[in-house]
Amino acid sequence: MKIAETVTFGGSGLDRAAELRGQADQLRGQRDARAILMWRGKPMILGDALVRLPLDHAAMVDAAADMILLGRDNGALVFAADFSAWTPDNLDAETLNTFLDPSEQQHPAVPDAAFAELRAIMTRLSPRDAELAATAKAVMDWHRSHRFCARCGVESAMAMGGWQRNCAACGGHHFPRTDPVVIMLITHGNAVLVGRSPGWPEGMYSLLAGFVEPGETIEAAVRREVFEEAGVRVGAVSYLASQPWPFPASLMFGCAGEALNKDLTIDPDEIEDAIWVTREEMAEAFAGNHPKLLPARKGAIAHFLLQAWLSDRLD
Ligand SMILES: [Zn+2]
Repeated sequence: MKIAETVTFGGSGLDRAAELRGQADQLRGQRDARAILMWRGKPMILGDALVRLPLDHAAMVDAAADMILLGRDNGALVFAADFSAWTPDNLDAETLNTFLDPSEQQHPAVPDAAFAELRAIMTRLSPRDAELAATAKAVMDWHRSHRFCARCGVESAMAMGGWQRNCAACGGHHFPRTDPVVIMLITHGNAVLVGRSPGWPEGMYSLLAGFVEPGETIEAAVRREVFEEAGVRVGAVSYLASQPWPFPASLMFGCAGEALNKDLTIDPDEIEDAIWVTREEMAEAFAGNHPKLLPARKGAIAHFLLQAWLSDRLD
């Protein structure tokens, strides 16, 4: 797909400077090095841009000692600093747990900026900032959930600028994980198959999706998920575009598939509903004119693929 990498988080060609990871801690002393700030998965932004602070900025006293080396941006190294242990004044813990947390937190040493939910701001960020924030969130989430060695259970330590954890007890090395997920544009003639999960906003339908299982190809996962969720058999499957989706650790494989039958048999354990929607109806939904149907959320690859389908840009 020619426009594949224009998807949100689609990559900005960041130079990840992997050859420097072994010396990441020493390189923090470089004068032009900068840090982006993350607090419990939320990047610090000012307007529509990530805040980049010198590593000796006053705010950095609240950062965790370990930092992630994200890469080289305009010639200077960029690190990600974890502020999660810092507690803002007047923290409203309840809104933090909502699906799209609308709250923003301000650090007193960077008063104009705020930590904001990544899904709420992702479409406003430049491709470079989106890649930096997605990478930082995914790697930090992995460290949080993989503190202990999966081989022997002893607490492991961050190494290689955050791209590895080493276990001193058994010598095990562990690397950040990404979970493959297929998401599919299943069509039958002029119609596309969409479904919804319980708890979604009323009227919202999106493309079907599911995790790829061990031992399975992407194509097989597409066919299995669509049959399990909607009872539809899928013939030819082709790959369209991918999207890193750090909520918490997915890589979405956007695929197209041709349905061999139209009758739907919904598995209520997997989805709440599935329907066929014609191109005309979907265009109305995207224009905000459909009386019942809400399109997939902007910034998600489902929205991107449906938009490309509507505008004949799947090639
Ligand atoms: Zn171990």
